[in-house]
Amino acid sequence: MVSQSGLIEFFASFLDEGAILQGEDVSGRTAGGLHTEENIQAKVILRPKTTEELSKILSACHESNQPIVVHGGLTGLVYGTRSTQDQLVISLERMNQIEDVDLIGRTITCQSGTTLQTIQELAEENNMMFPLDLGARGSCSIGGNIATNAGGNRVIRYGMMRDSVLGLEAVLADGTVLTSMNTMIKNNAGYDLKQLFIGTEGTLGIITRCVLRLREAPLSQNTGLVALENLDSVIRFLKIVDSKLGGNMSAFEVMWNEFYKMVVGSKEQSSIPLAPDYPYYVLVEALGSDQIKDEDHFESVLSECLESSLIKDAVLAKSDSERQALWAIRDDVEQQTNYKPTFMYDVSLPI
Ligand SMILES: Cc1cc2nc3c(=O)[nH]c(=O)nc-3n(C[C@H](O)[C@H](O)[C@H](O)COP(=O)(O)OP(=O)(O)OC[C@H]3O[C@@H](n4cnc5c(N)ncnc54)[C@H](O)[C@@H]3O)c2cc1C
Repeated sequence: MVSQSGLIEFFASFLDEGAILQGEDVSGRTAGGLHTEENIQAKVILRPKTTEELSKILSACHESNQPIVVHGGLTGLVYGTRSTQDQLVISLERMNQIEDVDLIGRTITCQSGTTLQTIQELAEENNMMFPLDLGARGSCSIGGNIATNAGGNRVIRYGMMRDSVLGLEAVLADGTVLTSMNTMIKNNAGYDLKQLFIGTEGTLGIITRCVLRLREAPLSQNTGLVALENLDSVIRFLKIVDSKLGGNMSAFEVMWNEFYKMVVGSKEQSSIPLAPDYPYYVLVEALGSDQIKDEDHFESVLSECLESSLIKDAVLAKSDSERQALWAIRDDVEQQTNYKPTFMYDVSLPI
C-alpha cells in the first residue's frame, strides 16, 4: 500500500509536468454544480492525456485503495464531481483530441474530454449535425454527457445521449482498458457493453474515447414560442404539432409561468417576446429540408392552433438572432441560483 504522496511521486515518473496540479492550482478551482462558489476539496488533480496514462493511474490507485473522483466539464447539476480532501481528482480536460471524422460512416471519434460545442462545430463545418444540444455546451465534455446520459433540447426527436453513442472505450477501476469502439448503427453481435457506462456517472469506469453518430445537417430551421392556458392544451398542442409537422418537430420545451417570468424579468420590456402572464409557454422547433416551404407550413400549423384557441399567442423567429433570443430564455436555468436554496431534480413523468 502506497501513501498519497508516494502515489504522486510514482505518477510524476511517467506524466508530464502539466499533468499533476497541486496547491493554489487546485484550491482555486470550483467543485462543480451550479453553486460555483464552492471550491474543490481534493488537494491534487491528475490530468492525463492518454488512455495508457489513465490506466496506469487507476491501476496504482486501485492497489493502494486510493479513492478518486472524475471531473469532466463540471457542469453536472447534481454534485457528482464533489470531492473530499483524501480523494484524488482525475480530470479529462486534456484528453480532448479529435481522432477521426468519417463523412461516409457519419461518425466522429474523439477523446472524452472534448467539449460538446467542439463536436457540434466540427459536425457543422462538415455539413453534418451532432444533435445533442444543451445550455452548458461550451463547457461540458462529451464524456460527461455520456456519463450522465444527457437529454438536451432535441431529445424528443433524436433521443438521449445513448442514441448518439456508437462505441466507446473505458478504463475500469483496476486499470483494465475495455475497448468497444463500434462504428456502425446496426450491431447485433451480442452484449453491448458500452451501455453499462452510459448514464452511470463514472461508477463503473472512466470513459476515455468514443464514437459518436452524426446526422445529415437540416436545410431548414423554424422556431416559435407559444403561450397556452393550461397543461391539457400543452398536451393537445404537442400531439397536433408533432403529427402536422410530419416528423420534423425537433424540440418541444415547456416552461411554466414562474420560470418564464423569472428569466424575462431581467430583460428590457421591449425585448420580451410574449407577455409574462400566461400559465404555460412552449418553445417549439422544426428541422426540415426546404426553408421556404417548411416556414410556410410551420406558420400555418401555428395559425390553425391560434384560430382554434388551442394556443393563446405565438411569436416566430425570423432570423438567427431572434432564434437565439428565444432559445436563450429556455437555456437560462442559471437564473434559478438567484433564489437559494435551489433543489435540482431531473425527473421523467408519463403524461
Ligand atoms: C446551463 C445547463 C444546462 C443543462 N441542460 C441540460 C439538459 O438540457 N439536459 C440534460 O440532460 N442535462 C443538462 N445539464 C446537465 C448536464 O448533465 C451536464 O451539463 C453535462 O452532461 C455534464 O457534462 P460535464 O462534462 O460537465 O460533466 P461533469 O459535471 O464534470 O460530471 C458529471 C458526472 O459524470 C462523471 N463524469 C464526467 N466525465 C466522465 C467520464 N469521462 N467518464 C466517466 N464519468 C465521467 C462525473 O464524475 C460526474 O459524476 C445542464 C447543465 C447546465 C449547467
